[in-house]
Amino acid sequence: MYSKKAYLRSGKDESARRYHPWIFSGAIGRLEGNPEEGDLVEVYDCQKNYLGAGHYQIGSIAIRVLTFTEEAIDKAFWKKRFQSAYDVRCVLGLAHSDTTNTYRLVHGEGDCLPGLIVDIYGDTAVMQAHSVGMHLARKDLAEAICVVMGDTIKNIYYKSETTLPFKADLQQENGYLCGGPSADLALENGLKFHVDWLKGQKTGFFVDQRENRALLEKYAAGRSVLNMFCYTGGFSFYAMRGDAKLVHSVDSSSKAIDLTNQNVQLNFPGDKRHEAYAEDAFKFLDAMGDRYDLIILDPPAFAKHRNVLRNALQGYRKLNAKAFEKIRPGGILFTFSCSQVVSKDDFRLAVFSAAAQSGRTVRILHQLTQPADHPINIYHPESEYLKGLVLFVE
Ligand code: SAH
Repeated sequence: MYSKKAYLRSGKDESARRYHPWIFSGAIGRLEGNPEEGDLVEVYDCQKNYLGAGHYQIGSIAIRVLTFTEEAIDKAFWKKRFQSAYDVRCVLGLAHSDTTNTYRLVHGEGDCLPGLIVDIYGDTAVMQAHSVGMHLARKDLAEAICVVMGDTIKNIYYKSETTLPFKADLQQENGYLCGGPSADLALENGLKFHVDWLKGQKTGFFVDQRENRALLEKYAAGRSVLNMFCYTGGFSFYAMRGDAKLVHSVDSSSKAIDLTNQNVQLNFPGDKRHEAYAEDAFKFLDAMGDRYDLIILDPPAFAKHRNVLRNALQGYRKLNAKAFEKIRPGGILFTFSCSQVVSKDDFRLAVFSAAAQSGRTVRILHQLTQPADHPINIYHPESEYLKGLVLFVE
């Protein structure tokens, strides 16, 4: 079907036969048709048996497989994949909810669309390509969203300036593929948010903490809460709605603190329980004393690559050690890692070491992960990235 082909080395086809969507460059024995970055290529084993087809790219992951059956990757293909992703969000009760209009529609490999992220905020879809192939297909992808979601989506914002491989030098600019700015506010479990998809991090909001925030709300009553790495303040408003005594939000970015303050005003105008500080986490934790009995630690990914894993684990240990040292007796710690390369066991070990260092009695109350609109492809364990622990500290 496609003239560009990749033939795998003998014995290097096992992972593709198990439907893992990444073909590493080292597994490829021979390329035919001189594929360029972003091209569709067919994948064969060394006996010339068809294995699948996907986007070619330069780098250690050389092909992101889109299909393991012989079929064209065309408009009908994208529509089918988006329909399947949307159907799952309908099953989850997210697509037509009165209280939540903010969810992930496409979670890359988790939705069999490697290299693509789409988050929905009310009537706007924010689309992010992580591969040149998805970038080249962006107009067809936008069309597929419109076909599947009809007029519930009015605007599609494409935001790939920082996520595309920079070596491809596409000079991609962010912008609307259809529609324009929306007055719609994002809603999550009945709480309102301004989402700045133009300037904000990721697609503008961390959609993946929705259920963990809801859990926090249940523990907030009467507590003094520290929301460390607050970004847009997500955990803070849930704590406020859960009757926290006071809520302090901290982030090193002053833009994040502005967003947090705006969102607090939106939900709890004039509420004096909340204060926000633009400060470095480690400095704040060193200086803060022992006034908090509910602490959230949701740092950015400390490890983006395997080779910095050791340093990242040290980072998690040090950060959590500070919280264990200072949290009040009977306190509850919500601690997270969103680094894909840090496994659940690694993270638990780092937190365990931090707890042991403090000498306090610590119970694990909950083990948290990403919500169901960030599904994990069973053949691609790497799509599981968010890990969290809720700890009771005596
Ligand atoms: N908890 C947030 C998401 C956190 S993202 C939510 O629920 O939406 C990580 C945040 O950590 C970013 O906003 C980033 O600005 C902030 N950050 C990064 N390094 C920091 C540091 N050293 N001290 C404080 N904040 C930091």
